[in-house]
Amino acid sequence: MIEPFVYQGSPARVIFGSGTKSHVAKEAERLGMERALVLSTPQQVEMAEEIAGLLGDASAGVYTRAAMHTPVEVTADAMALVKDKAVDGVVSIGGGSTTGLGKAIAYRTDLPQLVIPTTYAGSEMTNILGQTEDGIKTTVRSPSILPETVIYDVDYTMGLPDWLSGISGINAIAHAVEALYAHDGNPVLSTMACEGIAALHRSLPRIADDMTNREARTDALYGAWLCGMCLGSSSIALHHKLCHVLGGSFDLPHAETHTAVLPHALAYNAPAVPTAMASLGLAMHTTTPAAALFDLAERMGAKTALKDLGMPADGIDRAVEITLKNPYWNPRELEAEGIRGIIQSAWSGTRPRV
Ligand code: NAD
Repeated sequence: MIEPFVYQGSPARVIFGSGTKSHVAKEAERLGMERALVLSTPQQVEMAEEIAGLLGDASAGVYTRAAMHTPVEVTADAMALVKDKAVDGVVSIGGGSTTGLGKAIAYRTDLPQLVIPTTYAGSEMTNILGQTEDGIKTTVRSPSILPETVIYDVDYTMGLPDWLSGISGINAIAHAVEALYAHDGNPVLSTMACEGIAALHRSLPRIADDMTNREARTDALYGAWLCGMCLGSSSIALHHKLCHVLGGSFDLPHAETHTAVLPHALAYNAPAVPTAMASLGLAMHTTTPAAALFDLAERMGAKTALKDLGMPADGIDRAVEITLKNPYWNPRELEAEGIRGIIQSAWSGTRPRV
């Protein structure tokens, strides 16, 4: 039976396909950009320069120092350029790190953002910004953070390494998994979540087999979009909070941490969310979704143990303590032994028991 619900659609405009970079000048103009700053990481300078070329006179130049976890020093550096060049909009090309810089600038200036995502992390569809100052990562949500326009161009994802495709894809799956049991979820979001998870679950192994498989790349990017919508439109629970604690406390890499934790956080919540588990089972063609996610991570060559990502064994107790200090909604009650069990299993990288 459908329970009463509230649904808030995302106002972002989305252009999806192959060769869609050709829309960039027209879309920038639509947002009123006449002096757009193009953002990227140092690894994606060529893509940024190509986009600046397509923008032509509407480009104010490129800034290519975006970095993981959106350090505030980098944002300050980019902001100086925004002021100097009287920038009137940002165009971010890259993964969640570059999108994060664009969001940080928009949060401070309310400038319009156009994002061209090149991983599957899904940040482009959310109003969430995580930024780091003095080693501490804090998260804010604001309407000014949500990008106005997103151009998904499969062509820019063709060179995304298979292992990075795997971890950013599983990061996206985590957004949709938590939307399936979010306290503010709804049937529309659940439909998007299942469709997004199914698309990523079937396409990622095909990308592992052949990175250049365009059909699989298209499927994965489509799934990433849907999963990003899920994160943007619902509240997060234990899995995302745990990753935040672990990433922040032990300086662990973002997508890798999500990949290692997700099977165990899901196994913990499973008894409390039978409907979500049934939907997940249908989307992934399995009766054991938590174990299937662990298998997917292994299939993609991802590290499945937090100890291999640099978390010390004596950090487990500390992580349990920090997690319990800031209580939040979760479908299953949070208690020390249960949380310890999740972190211990993720630390050693054992397959969740079926
Ligand atoms: P990333 O953006 O850090 O990219 C990883 C590396 O891959 C970078 O060097 C990048 O330049 C390179 N790269 C990206 N696309 C490529 C391509 N197509 N070909 C070759 N190289 C490519 O990784 P990510 O996983 O996309 O993003 C992680 C960051 O995003 C974290 O800081 C995380 O906190 C944030 N994030 C935020 C949200 C949100 O809603 N706020 C959601 C998900 C992730």
